Amino acid sequence: MSQREPAGERASGARPALDRRPGYARVLLVEDEPDIADLVKLTLEREGRMEVETVADGEQAVRLAIDHPPDLLVLDLSLPGLDGLEVCRLIRANPVARQVPIIMLTARTDELDRISGLDLGADDYVTKPFSARELAARARAILRRQPSGGDQPIAVYRGRHLVADFDAVVVSVDGRPIRLTRREFELLRFLIGNRNRVLSRDRLLDRVWGYEQIIETRSVDVHIGRLRAKLGPAGKQVETVVGLGYRFVDA
Ligand code: CA
Repeated sequence: MSQREPAGERASGARPALDRRPGYARVLLVEDEPDIADLVKLTLEREGRMEVETVADGEQAVRLAIDHPPDLLVLDLSLPGLDGLEVCRLIRANPVARQVPIIMLTARTDELDRISGLDLGADDYVTKPFSARELAARARAILRRQPSGGDQPIAVYRGRHLVADFDAVVVSVDGRPIRLTRREFELLRFLIGNRNRVLSRDRLLDRVWGYEQIIETRSVDVHIGRLRAKLGPAGKQVETVVGLGYRFVDA
């Protein structure tokens, strides 16, 4: 659980699945009308390699998007409580979630709403009543634009135990700063930038060590081991994927 939130604030039962299916994009759908939510979920899951998580209110959407940034947010403009524009603004202001692409759904057709939606950082919008197939096509188009290798630099990562502020170069576990070597810091940054994705030892070598140094593949394992030990309770977020490499998982 993130340390920003008062204990008990998080709704239980509404956690997104932490294990994404390989090759599937995780879509967070924010829609308070159950019929539309069901239709959109069904269509996206049937027509694309997407897994859709649905929530009905803006506050929960912001919380989930920050805790586990999805690959795509499909956001209804008109929501009870925080409306879609406010959700969009909060997500764009958050260092962890701001890169998440957003498609706005709107029943309002006047230009002003469209413009302000785009100004606040929506990547696309679809006006109700819409064809679910059209929405699926737009979702696929946006997901195709995402860098396939992931590698989204983030300024601050906040997990249950671990907070890594990559701009300030401060990493702490349960509130206590820990000391990392530069290489360990870069390793952690790259793992977190590609979290939930498996990274091969060769890719880690290439991206963290670069070409300036010839080191053996197994020394990646040594560095991972040291990093894991220093991360203490957050160390188990660095998973070994047997035969493939390593993966940083959200927690
Ligand atoms: Ca609505």
